[in-house]
Amino acid sequence: MNYPALKIDLKKIEANTRLLVEKCAAYNIKVSAVTKAFCGIPEVAEAMVKGGAAYLADSRVENLIKMKHIKQPKMLLRIPMLSQVKEVVEYADISLNSEYKVIKALSDEAQEKRKCHDIILMVDLGDLREGVWADEAVEYAGKIIKLEGVRLIGIGTNLTCYGAVIPKVDNLSKLVEIAENIEKKYGVKLSIISGGNSSSYYLVENGTIPKGINNLRLGESVVLGNETAYGNRIEGTYNDCFTLCAEIIELKEKPSVPIGEIGVDAFGNKPTYVDRGIRKRAILAIGKQDVRIDGLTPIDKKIIILGASSDHMIVDVTDSETDYSIGDIIEFTMDYGALLSLSTSDYVYKVIE
Ligand SMILES: *Cc1c(COP(=O)(O)O)cnc(C)c1O
Repeated sequence: MNYPALKIDLKKIEANTRLLVEKCAAYNIKVSAVTKAFCGIPEVAEAMVKGGAAYLADSRVENLIKMKHIKQPKMLLRIPMLSQVKEVVEYADISLNSEYKVIKALSDEAQEKRKCHDIILMVDLGDLREGVWADEAVEYAGKIIKLEGVRLIGIGTNLTCYGAVIPKVDNLSKLVEIAENIEKKYGVKLSIISGGNSSSYYLVENGTIPKGINNLRLGESVVLGNETAYGNRIEGTYNDCFTLCAEIIELKEKPSVPIGEIGVDAFGNKPTYVDRGIRKRAILAIGKQDVRIDGLTPIDKKIIILGASSDHMIVDVTDSETDYSIGDIIEFTMDYGALLSLSTSDYVYKVIE
């Protein structure tokens, strides 16, 4: 095996997806499984489909292209770039939108290709990332409905991303109300009312998700088993679908405080040190170029992460019950940021099990 490696357990991904899909199904909610945290690796997306995901969703067309052989409808999560409209119509069945100019361009491109592209209109309920303002949504929908080549199939919202606003019964009920108003005013049927991301999941768990919400776009809750409104673990899910394996390249006893005048480290920060005396330190062949170090947790609980430069990570193994040697592998679980960075690094081998 090559290192550093990101080991991926497809059975656990499938099990996490199935658990969330079944919980959501009890409230007539379908799951769009979000693939961006692992850059759309097709085998992982397939495991999500096996687990019952109705849609696959990603922020980047490049990732949707990797999954184009999978028959589930693909949803583009990030508002399309005008410069990418061609690719969006080609590779996404549905896109989330908030700008008429972009939707018009999608309409023109779809007509030219004799296709129909589906639109979900995003409504900003206060988080201040994407979306039209709630009181403009009905009118906006009317303009989209008039366009050829695109079909308004639903509305959606995104919360807890920029503004960290928590989804609640009141703000999500507002979304359902807007959908009803659009249906009434224009005599259309909206098939998707997408009530947010993993931060909305706790409303499914506690049974208060407003009736009418029939889609959630779930990323972190599937891949790491975390509920993200309050940061709790979702009972029954795996947190270790992904494991980082890094190799020891140096192992020596050294003092815990550097010797000499302290300047700034490789990233321009002035470091501080805890004096634990002489310690056994391992250097691992991975660094900040590959991973957000703060998001890693050693599986061997006795290991302490000391820090890293761009391509060396230093851990203290003194207290461990394992007698490590050069060439041994140390394993870590991770948070969302660490997973995102590891998936994106070309230097990290992706190993599917
Ligand atoms: C990333 C993203 C999601 C998934 O978010 P998680 O918190 O990982 O569930 C859902 N919707 C949109 C628009 C996104 O950009």
